Amino acid sequence: MPPAASPAIIVHGGAGSLGSDDPASSGGADAPRLEGVRRACEAGQAVLRAGGSALDAVETAVRVLEDDPTYNAGTGATLTAAGDVELDASIMDGETLRCGAVAVVKDVRNPVTLARAVMERSQHVLLAGPGASAFAREAGIPPYENALLVTARQRARWEEARAAAAGTGPAGTLPGKKFGTVGAVARDARGHLAAATSTGGMQLKLPGRVGDTPLIGCGTYADDALAAVSCTGHGERIIQLTLARFVADRVGRGATPMDAAREAIAALGRRVRGEGGVIVVGPRGEVGFAHNTPVMSRAWTTPDGDVVAEL
Ligand code: ASP
Repeated sequence: MPPAASPAIIVHGGAGSLGSDDPASSGGADAPRLEGVRRACEAGQAVLRAGGSALDAVETAVRVLEDDPTYNAGTGATLTAAGDVELDASIMDGETLRCGAVAVVKDVRNPVTLARAVMERSQHVLLAGPGASAFAREAGIPPYENALLVTARQRARWEEARAAAAGTGPAGTLPGKKFGTVGAVARDARGHLAAATSTGGMQLKLPGRVGDTPLIGCGTYADDALAAVSCTGHGERIIQLTLARFVADRVGRGATPMDAAREAIAALGRRVRGEGGVIVVGPRGEVGFAHNTPVMSRAWTTPDGDVVAEL
């Protein structure tokens, strides 16, 4: 094994289009997206600097992004065809390969924390819908009103998307294809990896639709021996390639995290015409990322301890 490297974290605020084409925003719309990922990365970095685990770091970073209305996760999530919010999230511990996930959750403020409770306090990996909500109450996570997760910006987008979709295509058509999931992957000082991802899913999704985010190996994966990965983009396409595991396997076979990320996104475009992005951290703390959408907001720590944020 190579010598222990310093802790590292990389977060994303979703693959998608530029803020300038967002009808709810005007010039400078990308600044909040950059500030948010920087803030989340710094929060995760603070956990790692204090000697915290990669698992705590990714949960902390994702919670910051879930509470930030800029992103499609937690507060500010995109709306379903029925006009409310349904949240998906997952988390994975690379040391033990334990993982937890929730899908179609309507009444929790921070679904990543509920996913962690599923991992640590149940015998299961994935809980969905009312069962996930009931488990949240048992785990002491208070109910949160769905209306509080809905922002005026997402309501306006929903109205516009619904009008655009009227009379076109099958139910569940996704005009505009706006993404914006959040995720974090980290390596702690003990050399352990973790990954977490959280989303409101795809705009105008059918109620009950589950994307890649809560599916282990698709939207999220972590194995100390391979890599930690979080995906964003068109979930149905990401599922077809089990994209997170695809990236981790490439790193396991010797690719750098950056090369593995690029290879995976090339395959996403080539094999299934999918759009999206990934972030990766390798066993020695090297970060990687790639996307084939116009932008993917992200922030990561350098070996010197600086935080770099980019779109
Ligand atoms: N991957 C998410 C999903 O399909 C969407 C996103 O990344 O924004 O649910």
